[in-house]
Amino acid sequence: MTKLIEKTERPPGEDLISKISLPDVFALDDSSESMWVDVIHRMDEVYSELLRNETDLERKNAELEEAQTFISSVVASVSDILIACGSDGVIRKVNPAFLSLVGMQEAAVIGTRIFDYVVEADRGEAERLMSAGHEGRVLEGDLHFSAAYGREECLAMRCAALFDGRRRRFGAVLTGRPISELRRAYQALHQAHLELQQAQRKLIEQEKMASLGRLVAGVAHELNNPISFVYGNIYTLDRYRRSLAHYLKAVHQGADPEEIGTLRRMLKIDAILSDIEPLLEGTIEGADRISDIVKNLRRLSFSKTGELQPVDVDRLLRNAAHLALRAKNSLANLVIESAPGLVIDAHEGQMHQVFVNLVDNALDAVVGRDNPRVWLAASRRDDTIEIVVRDNGSGIREDNLGNIFEPFFTTKTVGEGTGLGLWISFSIIQDYGGTINVRNCGTGGAEFRVLLPLDS
Ligand code: ADP
Repeated sequence: MTKLIEKTERPPGEDLISKISLPDVFALDDSSESMWVDVIHRMDEVYSELLRNETDLERKNAELEEAQTFISSVVASVSDILIACGSDGVIRKVNPAFLSLVGMQEAAVIGTRIFDYVVEADRGEAERLMSAGHEGRVLEGDLHFSAAYGREECLAMRCAALFDGRRRRFGAVLTGRPISELRRAYQALHQAHLELQQAQRKLIEQEKMASLGRLVAGVAHELNNPISFVYGNIYTLDRYRRSLAHYLKAVHQGADPEEIGTLRRMLKIDAILSDIEPLLEGTIEGADRISDIVKNLRRLSFSKTGELQPVDVDRLLRNAAHLALRAKNSLANLVIESAPGLVIDAHEGQMHQVFVNLVDNALDAVVGRDNPRVWLAASRRDDTIEIVVRDNGSGIREDNLGNIFEPFFTTKTVGEGTGLGLWISFSIIQDYGGTINVRNCGTGGAEFRVLLPLDS
């Protein structure tokens, strides 16, 4: 009996099989026929499997190629240099950034050792970096490379270990970023910064000298008054001494009483005797005043060195304001209202400088005003001391309000203003953890408000 193999499912290649009718080949009994059918089915299955695997393989191959192209383009686009080498330092892969650094083709580089490109002095460091991964961490360091055209380029390197699928270390990958330019730029910046700091220190010193000059002018004025009346009194006392000596000489020489009486009237001996006491008192008062001024001066040191001292706020404001007033020869009316017992821990000289600056500016602002006035007020607000310096002067132009604490900002003519006073005052107050701000008063004039923490 002949039988045609019936196929319901047709895998690829089926046409061949299905078209074979057994009578064309063999005449088979039933068992042989079923065996053949099995074999052919099996072949069909294997063939289909093969085809499936092939498609799969092609797809995976395409994916792999795509991934490789992607990785290569990423590596090529990295501007840092990248070197992958074996544990022995033999280079296996580099990126274009490295090739352009050393000025070579990839084929010439692969197989050479990384140490060949590092300057001799840095080879030890290169070996250290190559040991990365032994301790399980990335190592960092700077390496100088012998670059193209005989140059030497310093690179900040990072080195990580390469591991195979079984976590065995088989090499290292190094990445590096050129820092020679960066270093030069940094050095130039550092140098510029140092010069700037030096210039700044010089300016601060100049401003201190200017402050000192103002202080000296104020002190000179302040001393002038007691010194002149001490002088005056001493001249008068000397004149009295001569009259008394003259009178006593006549008495000792035994002049007659009438002559002594005439001399007594002529030399105004009685007036002299009653004047001596107030003259001496005045002289002592003058000397005390001079001694007070000198004591105040001693407390003022413009340097920040030494311990902070308790500074009596009322005395600080009075001294600063009076010295500023005297130095400027100002006719402004000075009003000082400070709550009693306010004390801050500070370097008195520095605080003095701040308030002389503020009062100085206020006095400048009230020049030419009717009833020129400057107010100073100090009070305590919780853990802060608030000191306000206000004037009824010109005020500050709104568009200048944001700039007046900047160095060199001045609206005064050359020689009158340096534009450093408020900047220095701001820095000093900031150093004490305080703040200083300014506003125009509704009634005209400017108001500076200094807040100082009590535990500064
Ligand atoms: P300088 O007094 O040398 O100009 P400052 O830093 O002390 O420098 O002051 C900067 C500027 O702030 C002054 O030129 C002035 O324009 C302004 N200013 C400061 N205080 C007052 C004030 N009380 N009233 C009006 N303007 C002021």
